[in-house]
Order: sequence, then structure tokens, then C-alpha cells
Amino acid sequence: MVLGVALVVRDMSRERKLAQLRNDFVSNVTHELKTPLTSIRMFAETMLMGRAKNTSDQREYLSAIVNESDKLTRLINTVLDSSKIEQEEKQYHMRTINLSTVVEKAVDAMTYWLREDGFVIVVDIEKEITITGDEDALEQTMNNLLSNAMKYSHNRKEITVRLYGKDGIARVEVQDRGLGIPESKQPHIFEKYYRAHSGHSADKGGSGLGLSVVKHIVDAHQGTIELKSRVNEGTTFTIIFPQTVKGS
Ligand code: ADP
Repeated sequence: MVLGVALVVRDMSRERKLAQLRNDFVSNVTHELKTPLTSIRMFAETMLMGRAKNTSDQREYLSAIVNESDKLTRLINTVLDSSKIEQEEKQYHMRTINLSTVVEKAVDAMTYWLREDGFVIVVDIEKEITITGDEDALEQTMNNLLSNAMKYSHNRKEITVRLYGKDGIARVEVQDRGLGIPESKQPHIFEKYYRAHSGHSADKGGSGLGLSVVKHIVDAHQGTIELKSRVNEGTTFTIIFPQTVKGS
């Protein structure tokens, strides 16, 4: 009976923790949706009122609108994917793909914004790395890792992206020199809703879903994801996929 009571108490505290995480999630996501929407509205109103005097100002405001819309799209895709994963409805369209182009595409999409924000980005991508995978899902994986590297970089704005193949294994690395993740929090980092920096003065907010979606995608590709991180020195995520021999 004692064991039964202990198990019930443990279940209750787990349930309470989960309910708390869900509440935090709703307020985090609401905030994450509202912030870009507020910016979009502000830039659009400024243009409507004719306050963007020259084409350079107009370009700047329109770029900001595109950037904020991209952020919204990324967040909505992550929330939708996470819900599909929970319902076991997430589908992958696997085929032989060139991982190098997928990684390049994701990096290219972010490079402009990274540079605008003062980042130095080092890119070292080996050509023609072939794997069996779902291009959209892998691109989303890269988007999540890159936007996290950007979000949690704080003062030292340096990001390195590498892709190389060796001994039948493809390795993708995304490295930043930012806040890092305390060792005690590292084991939880891929859990749904978990946020290691909530309350930290440098936290820019988030849904806590990104890495859980990344992990699901990597698992679906028979891959593994490794994390190396030290507080105030930075974080490296390495994804390892089996390489596909072309023509096989
Ligand atoms: P979030 O939406 O909060 O960024 P994620 O699931 O993408 O959620 O990441 C979970 C948590 O892992 C983050 O809240 C953050 O605390 C930590 N994290 C993820 N990537 C990094 C990184 N590159 N550097 C430091 N911490 C990170």
C-alpha cells in the first residue's frame, strides 16, 4: 500500500509539473506570437503614414516585416510539427538527397539576418554528401539549431556551421560561443517544453519545443544528436547520419 501511495503521489507531482510546463508554454507562445506581430504592425503603419521617406528606409522596414514574418512561420511550423509528433501523425518523405544543399539553403536563409545582427558566420560545407532523408524536415532541423545559436549567443556573436563525411558517416555541426547550458540541465534539453534559460536575463523567449522536434526528426533518420556545452563558452550540436552510397 505504501508503494501504491508513493506511486500515486509521484504521478500527481508529475502531472502538476506537466500542467505548469503547459501553462508556461501557452504564455511563452502567446508572447512569441505577439512580439513579431507588434513589430509587423508598427513597420506597416509607419509606411502607411508615409514616414519612410526614401527607398532605403522603405527597404529597411520591408525587410524587417519579412524577417518578423519568417519568425512567425518558424514558430507556427514548430508548434504544428510538435502536435503532429504527439498525435503520431508526423510523416517523412524519405529519398536520396544531397545534404550539402539542404544545409547550404538553411544557412543562406539565415546569413543575411545574422550579419544584420552583427554575427560572424563561418561556413565549411563539404559538397555532395548524400543521405536518405526528408529535405523539409532536415531544413527545419537546421533552422531550429541556427536560430537557437543566434538566440543564445548573447555577447559573443560567432557561429560556425560544418558538414563533412567520413567513414560512411555524415556529421553536421552548429557551434556558437554563447551562453552555454549548465551541465545539470543538459540531460533535459530535448524534452518537450523544457527551457534551460527561462528567467535568465539574456533569455529572448521561446516555445521550448524546437529541440524536441529536432530530436524526433534526427531519430526518424536513424541519426544521433550530440551536445557539447560549457557555460559562458558556448554550445555545439552535432548531428550524425549514416551516409548513403550514391547509386545504391
Ligand atoms: P526554445 O524555444 O526555448 O529555444 P528549444 O527546444 O529550441 O526551445 O531549446 C530548449 C532550451 O535549450 C532552450 O530554452 C535553451 O535554454 C536551451 N538551448 C537550446 N539551444 C541552445 C544554445 N545554442 N545555447 C544555449 N542554450 C540553448
